[in-house]
Amino acid sequence: MLPPDTPVPLALLLAACAVTIIVALRYVLTSGLFALATARIRPGLYEGKRQQILREIRWSLLSAAIYGVPAGMVMWGWRNLGWTQITADWAALPLWYHPLSVLIYLFVQDTCFYWSHRVMHRPRWFRIAHAVHHDSKPPTAWTAMSFHPVEALTGAIVIPCLVFLVPIHIGMLGLVLTIATVMGVTNHMGWEMFPRWLVHSALGEWLITASHHERHHEEYRCNYGLYFRVWDRLCGTDRGLSKRIVAEAGHVRA
Ligand SMILES: [Zn+2]
Ligand SMILES: [Zn+2]
Repeated sequence: MLPPDTPVPLALLLAACAVTIIVALRYVLTSGLFALATARIRPGLYEGKRQQILREIRWSLLSAAIYGVPAGMVMWGWRNLGWTQITADWAALPLWYHPLSVLIYLFVQDTCFYWSHRVMHRPRWFRIAHAVHHDSKPPTAWTAMSFHPVEALTGAIVIPCLVFLVPIHIGMLGLVLTIATVMGVTNHMGWEMFPRWLVHSALGEWLITASHHERHHEEYRCNYGLYFRVWDRLCGTDRGLSKRIVAEAGHVRA
């Protein structure tokens, strides 16, 4: 904790730095863990990708700062000035609302991602903001945060804005961030970790896993969603799963 007489600009700077370091560590540990799993489960999948992975790590660490600055400032405001609708008291919200809050956060994040992602596939915006992400051909476990700063900014502001509008317990917010981190990494790692009974179930028709996002990286103009296939299905942009990943996972449909 900082002394109470710390000047506000210095306190904000320190909070932004602290959250940047946390986001960067979270990225390195999660991507590193799934890269290790990839080396064991799909040996050779990232062979010859050293240069691509180093580039992905550089862009991702820059993205960590772009995520860390607004998040750190909002967290400081929450702790010191009572900003936001975040609570640390489980009883402050009804029990049934806690899982609902997680779904609301994920759905809003998914909606913002879908539409900003579609805009970034227009030629001009693609060159400016999104080509960096698609430089990863095919993506790896290190691609999760490999974004141009403009694209990183579109993702970085969603949750810091949402916490002012939608009440959430800090533990549930942690769960949202954990889901965001793990799905960001696993959806890019080039192989399917979820079992066939889930990926090809009625629920799997609405959820995005590596099999779905890989197809976005293969064909570009489809499968724009982040967690859910709702917008892709509603807007006719869902082209199904990557044939390569489905075949390699042994998930060939009956
Ligand atoms: Zn991607
Ligand atoms: Zn894209």
